[in-house]
Parts: sequence; C-alpha cells; structure tokens
Amino acid sequence: MMKKKKVIVIGAGFSGLSTATQLAEWGYDVEIFEKNEQAGGRARVFKEQGFVFDMGPSWYWMPDVFEKYFSTFGKKPSDYYDLKRLDPSYSVILSPTEVIDLPAKLEGIKLLFEGIESGASEKLDQFLEQASYKYRVGITNFVWKPSRKISEFLSLKLLIDLIQLDVFQSFYTHIRKYFKSETLLKIMEFPILFLGAISQNTPAMYSLMNYAEITMGTWYPMGGMHQIIKGMVQLAEEKGVKIHYNQEVLGFDIEDKKVKAIQLKEGKHYADAVIASADYHHVETLLGDNYRNYSEAYWDKRVMAPSSILFYLGVSKRLPKLKHHNLFFDRDFSIHSHEIYTEPAWPSDPLFYASAPSVTDPSIAPAGCENLFLLIPVAPNLTDSEEVRDKYFEQLMDRLESYCGTSIRDSILYKRSYAHKDFQKDYHAFKGNAYGLANTLMQTAILKPSLKNKRLKNLYYTGQLTVPGPGVPPALISGLVVAKELDKELKKV
Ligand SMILES: Cc1cc2nc3c(=O)[nH]c(=O)nc-3n(C[C@H](O)[C@H](O)[C@H](O)COP(=O)(O)OP(=O)(O)OC[C@H]3O[C@@H](n4cnc5c(N)ncnc54)[C@H](O)[C@@H]3O)c2cc1C
Repeated sequence: MMKKKKVIVIGAGFSGLSTATQLAEWGYDVEIFEKNEQAGGRARVFKEQGFVFDMGPSWYWMPDVFEKYFSTFGKKPSDYYDLKRLDPSYSVILSPTEVIDLPAKLEGIKLLFEGIESGASEKLDQFLEQASYKYRVGITNFVWKPSRKISEFLSLKLLIDLIQLDVFQSFYTHIRKYFKSETLLKIMEFPILFLGAISQNTPAMYSLMNYAEITMGTWYPMGGMHQIIKGMVQLAEEKGVKIHYNQEVLGFDIEDKKVKAIQLKEGKHYADAVIASADYHHVETLLGDNYRNYSEAYWDKRVMAPSSILFYLGVSKRLPKLKHHNLFFDRDFSIHSHEIYTEPAWPSDPLFYASAPSVTDPSIAPAGCENLFLLIPVAPNLTDSEEVRDKYFEQLMDRLESYCGTSIRDSILYKRSYAHKDFQKDYHAFKGNAYGLANTLMQTAILKPSLKNKRLKNLYYTGQLTVPGPGVPPALISGLVVAKELDKELKKV
C-alpha cells in the first residue's frame, strides 16, 4: 500500500479544523498542533461557577456556509448542534428610552423601516435586490478564489460581475442612496463593522452582509458557539485527523526550499506539507527573514481590524430588559471610529455590545442568573493595563445599570476581563488584534497576504489574515480553499 502523504496543520481554530478535515477526507495523514489546551482558537470556551462563556464569536450568520461546510463531508449542522433563530435578531439601544428591536421576519423589518422613514420599505426591497446579487456572486464565486493571481479574475463574466459588485464604491456612499434617517443608517452600517473597517473604507460589495443578516437571520447554536467547534472536532477525528493540544510550534526545519519539519519543545515532526492557521504575522516571525513572505514594514502598514476589551460576567439575577444581542449605539460612532482607525487611542466614550446568551439558553448559566459578554471595539496596539480595563468596566456598568434600571455590580458572581495582552499571549495576535485584517478595498482578494509561501513550496497559510477575510464563515471557507490548493500541489509531486 502507498504511504499516505503527511500534512501538518498549525492551530485548531475554525480555519485549521476546516482545512485538516478536508485533507483527511481526501486521504492525507493529517495532524494538528495547537498551542492551547483546547480547540477553537478565538472561539474557545471556559466554565466558571456554573456559567459557560464563549470567549469570542457570538453571532451566527450565513447559515448556508455552515451547511455547505458540513455537507462537504456528507453531514448537516444538525448532526452536531441545534440551531435556534433569534427573534428579535438584536436590539439597538439609541438612548435609554429609544430602543429598536430588529424583527427576524423581513415583513416586520419593512414595517419598522417604514415607520422610521417614509418610503424606506420599498427602498429596502430595492437595496436587498442588488445585495442578493452580490451575495450570490460573492459567496458562490469570489470568496472561493485562492486569489493567487490576477488571471483568476480575468474572464469577461467575472469582470462584469466585479463591476456590478460595486467593488470600487464605498458602502458609505452606497447606503446613503437608499436611506436618509440616521437610525436606519446605523442599523444598515452595523453589519459592516464585522469586516473590521468603517463604511467609508469598505467596498459596497459588502452589502451582501446585510442581505445575509436580514434574509437569512441571526441564529444561535444551543449550548453556545463552541458547539460548532465541538462538532468540527468530532468530524475531524472521524476523518482520522489527530489533534495535539498544548503543543506550540516554535520553528521550522527548512531544506531545498521546503519545510521538512516543525519544531516543538519536545522534538520535531516531519511532514510533506504544512498549513499554518496560526496568526500569519506570527508564522512569519517563526520563519525568519529569509523565508517570510512580507517584511515588518509591510505588516506595519496593514490596516488591522480592531482589537477588543471584553468582560465575561456571571450575574446572580436576570436582567429582563436585555435581549440576546444588544448594541449600545447611544454614543457618537464617528468619534469612536476615529479613535479606532484614524488616531488610535483609548476611546473617550465608546459604543459597546452586550450579549446575554442566557436569555435564549438556560444551560449556560445557573438558574435565575444571567451570562453576560461585553465587548468594546478598540484600536490594536494600545498598551493595555488593569487600570484601563477597570476604567472601562465602570463606564459600562454605569450605562448598563442605567439601561436595565437595576444594580448589577453588587450581583456579580464571576468577572474576567480580556484585551490586547491576552490576544497576544493566547494567539500570538499581531498588535493584539481580535479579528485579523480589515476588509478594505486595498486588502481584498489578491491584495491580501497570500495563502502560499512564495519561497517554500510546501508551506501554505489559512485563516482570518488571508483570503477571504475575518469572521467564522470566511475562516471555514479559507480552510477549504487552501486544502484544494495544497492538494493540487501535492498531486504534482
Ligand atoms: C471577541 C471576538 C468576537 C468575534 N465575534 C464574531 C462573531 O460574532 N461572528 C463571527 O463570524 N466572527 C467573530 N469573530 C471572528 C472569528 O472568531 C474569527 O475570525 C475566527 O474564529 C478566526 O479563526 P482562525 O482559524 O482564522 O484563527 P484562530 O481562531 O485564531 O485560530 C488559530 C489557532 O492557532 C493557534 N496557534 C497560534 N500560534 C500557534 C503556534 N505557534 N503553534 C500552535 N498553534 C498556534 C491558536 O492558539 C489558535 O487556536 C470574533 C472574534 C473575536 C476575537
């Protein structure tokens, strides 16, 4: 029998698990080396005093991408977790007395829009019609491109698509052709924040995000987001992937323009090829100057998506005013975004996001308690300290208590904060970033860091710092795309 080719994957986040499972399905001998004690990467989980905290992602959008992922292996998401559609999808808090609940159904959203701005319901239909084209072309075609060569985009049909996708117009300009109300603009610009950039710098193509959110809904896997990871690990292991935890990759043995082995604290592991799903910049530092794709100067010029200050709180009472997802858009976002992107600084008076998944799922908090996750997007590369975290904690508590109309501080059973230093320590995150690279026009497709090392034939990259970009669905796609590229390469040999 022919010996199977061996592929090593660095990191067991969404992209690492995705690429490993695909390669194992195709008959490769695949091993993942993960530095942390569990799989999931930015989507890890921890349990304290009866609370189950998802550490990162909390929004389950684009259910079709998850279905496509599992169907690649003859499975369905429901083989691994139960999804619940949230209604309302989320709440937008404009002021303590002005709160908008976004209904799950399109008809409800149209009524809401019409009530805010006359004619907006029809405008929403028109907006969604073009956004549906962008979603179809974007998600079925563009995001699956490895983006290694411009020639991938040089067919007449693709060029026409590219123009119709509005790649060269900003989302900011695009959305203002449909709506005038500041409230509607806030609602429509919110999904763009997931792309790590402000709407002025985001191509209008990403109205596909609104299409996904409005027409396909906001979902939640019962038990928590890490149920997806649990399912993916089970599937990977069913396919024969071996996952090694607490095994940090420290360097590479390189010979004849190839990676021969990865170096660990306790020895080496040899492979025919390596896919790095760990943060791209970190892998570059492990390679050293002779073999990295990009210089420090290049990385320094990248527009990073924001980092975050996070608080995980176990509260000993219910907070009935909170929905599952709550966006505190009760401050001036132009000031906050200026402090993230233009003149990076700790925000003076930030917007924030509060997730209370225990509103939907009683299994993640003790009876009568609330499980809270608070997030402030902040610039990467800030010097984070306990004093800074404490200051923002007090600010958020003031606003949350005033909104909920009850004290919270005195009911906190468990509190943990998380920010830049933790992202660096746990994931080797460049500048302590949370979500990788921003999806600006100049960081799209072939302009993103390449998924292939240019000097080493058998080293590839996947994950949120390469194509197609940040977020869970893109990370799943990234893993599948790079597996295909590596498979082609290994079949040549
Ligand atoms: C707070 C937060 C909230 C988010 N919210 C959402 C959301 O609601 N919806 C959404 O779709 N997306 C969200 N995201 C983004 C999403 O979580 C990420 O884009 C996605 O999880 C990235 O997956 P990845 O595989 O690229 O990277 P990672 O998850 O970072 O995986 C990389 C893995 O490599 C490991 N590693 C690093 N260095 C080494 C080494 N030297 N040796 C071995 N292993 C190593 C790391 O430990 C990690 O496990 C959020 C992210 C954060 C941080």
